Amino acid sequence: MKKIDELKVAALAGGVGGAKLIVGLRNVLPEGQLTAIVNTGDDFEHFGLRICPDLDTVCYSLAGVADALHGWGVKDETWHVLDQLRQLEAPSWFALGDRDLALHLERTRLLAEGNRLTLVTKAICRKLEVSTAVLPMCDQVAPTLIRLKDGRVLGFQEYFVGERFEPLIDEIILPEASNLSMTTEVAEALRNADLIVICPSNPWVSIAPILNVPGVREQVSSKIIIAVSPIINGAALKGPAAKMFAELGIEASASNVLAHYGELVDGFVYDNQEDENLTITSSKGIILFKTNTIMKETHEKNNLAVDVLCLGLKLFNENN
Ligand code: GDP
Ligand code: CA
Repeated sequence: MKKIDELKVAALAGGVGGAKLIVGLRNVLPEGQLTAIVNTGDDFEHFGLRICPDLDTVCYSLAGVADALHGWGVKDETWHVLDQLRQLEAPSWFALGDRDLALHLERTRLLAEGNRLTLVTKAICRKLEVSTAVLPMCDQVAPTLIRLKDGRVLGFQEYFVGERFEPLIDEIILPEASNLSMTTEVAEALRNADLIVICPSNPWVSIAPILNVPGVREQVSSKIIIAVSPIINGAALKGPAAKMFAELGIEASASNVLAHYGELVDGFVYDNQEDENLTITSSKGIILFKTNTIMKETHEKNNLAVDVLCLGLKLFNENN
């Protein structure tokens, strides 16, 4: 029988929703027990700089410097560069804060020296005094593309930020998996994990890209997996998750998040505010757990992390 502080956890995450639970897990687990595996499908190049929005949100959140108001970028940010870009009538649709820009400059420099994104992220985490292992889902560039109903195909940030996720989506296009490979670091984290947590991140554009990396789905399938719903009473707390469900012809609901993960999950955590109790459509004996999943304050992040870990521990001990 393991105890809760002996669990090794790998958490799959996107940006805002993912980062909140990652912080909770970091707060309640002993050091060294948590690895965050983060979506890089949103990454893009802007002014020649490599920008990794989800990795940055997770790293800034763990470093305690995230801008909680926006959900992205650094708190107490200044915007001199952006102001000047506007004056120059240069592209300013993607808001780059001055401090944030420094990170993109340094990451781009380290990548240009030939370093892998995994090691660059490790170096940046060290400088930000983040001790949690934060891994990009892979080292290759792996852009998620959005095909719109009007026929255009946009990079994720062009759709999400540039067009404020207003156009209707026809299809989400993930990169050809055969062009991607799992890093040794991700493979090791998954192999060593007792528990996989799928954070309350967007299932389509944050979690699916991670599971698309060859080997990841297979490796996590052999573990106990707990997923937390990002959809509460048919709505997303932030971002396009619910809108994406609707446009892909699926009603946005916690039960459809569960149906989407299907056979993968062993335990599913959803919100107290759901009007109805979920029913299980999968053949597997999934354990459902209803609790507060809205994480504004630190104690809410920590409490949800404890709920997720207790459920995971129970399932782990039953199966080992
Ligand atoms: P993004 O990459 O910044 O869009 O972030 P994620 O994919 O990690 O998270 C987006 C999802 O997080 C949205 O569907 C939100 O509904 C969900 N979300 C944000 N905050 C919370 C929260 O406090 N609790 C829950 N359950 N979901 C949240
Ligand atoms: Ca994202």
